[in-house]
Amino acid sequence: MTQEDKILIGKAVAQINKSITNDIRIMEICGTHTYQIARFGIRKLLSPKIHLVSGPGCPVCVTEPGYIDTLIKLLEYEDVVVATFGDLLRVRGSYGSLEEQLAFGKKVITVYSPENVLDIAKKRKNENIVFAAVGFETTAPLYAALIKMTRKERINNLFLLTSIKQMKPVIRFILGKDNVNVDGMLCPGHVAAITGTAPFLPITTDYNIPAVICGFEAMDIIASISILCRQITGEIPVQFMNTYKRCVCDTGNRLALDLINEVFEISDVNWRGIGMIKDSSLILNRNYKEYDALIKFGIKMQSSSNLFPKECECGKVLIGEKTPDMCVNFACKCTPEHPIGPCMISSEGACASYYRYGGYS
Ligand code: SF4
Repeated sequence: MTQEDKILIGKAVAQINKSITNDIRIMEICGTHTYQIARFGIRKLLSPKIHLVSGPGCPVCVTEPGYIDTLIKLLEYEDVVVATFGDLLRVRGSYGSLEEQLAFGKKVITVYSPENVLDIAKKRKNENIVFAAVGFETTAPLYAALIKMTRKERINNLFLLTSIKQMKPVIRFILGKDNVNVDGMLCPGHVAAITGTAPFLPITTDYNIPAVICGFEAMDIIASISILCRQITGEIPVQFMNTYKRCVCDTGNRLALDLINEVFEISDVNWRGIGMIKDSSLILNRNYKEYDALIKFGIKMQSSSNLFPKECECGKVLIGEKTPDMCVNFACKCTPEHPIGPCMISSEGACASYYRYGGYS
């Protein structure tokens, strides 16, 4: 960050803080914003009357235990290799984590990109590679491109176990609650870069809550918070705004949306800490079902009531009802080295961000 940026941010923060006289709550829906807000120390710059609370946008945190259980069940097949991004390794289901399965000698591989998975499938032709496909609309096009490439290259040993989620239904879930306590929303610029602005418009049109599509630099976040505060205090009318126009256009990324529409269809899915949300998921459609691990192995997604370990407040942290420092375990029994709940495991989890950067007051 340049000296000029720091001066600009200082001026903007002073103006924001001066304008706020009552307590307000702004929710950042996505985990990347949670991380960046903590990393830049933004929470500590703002007036204590401005409460920045996290939402359910950390993909690893909201992955249901039953999904982990299903991956573990698939590992019972001797020829199955589970490929996963690293953050998911330590998340626990009812019977433990993939990391523990690895220690037990099961075949679990950490990958860094979908291309990695394609290479593994080509090299390990006698095994079946199941890729743990979790995420939001940002990663869905990558999974779609992977499956199209799998078909094009006639690879027949690569499958997805999907738990890909969509933002719009979960936003409706949060704002539709009786005791909703959110005055403004920071919306994820990377999701909007794919989807366009449409999924986020109802925040203002249907719920009359200020909303801003926001980028991920400190100045993006401060500028967006400033706009939200001006709307919340009544200085300017409540309206939907996009401060990330350098990356987000109203109609989104046509190529990425075409990929999603070609490969996936909409379905219901369980969110950890929230429960089933209708039409909130993307699953492989009938033209691509042959790549669905559930169909290949003839199993069902496990369901689990074991949502969170005892005394873990992730369920409330994920919907902005509590901040991590309100949990009795935070920074004592629960740390990134010894995490209790998923919000301390993923780097985008609110608890891990708070812990790492001291974002709490
Ligand atoms: Fe759960 Fe740990 Fe966060 Fe508490 S600090 S809510 S135990 S992850």
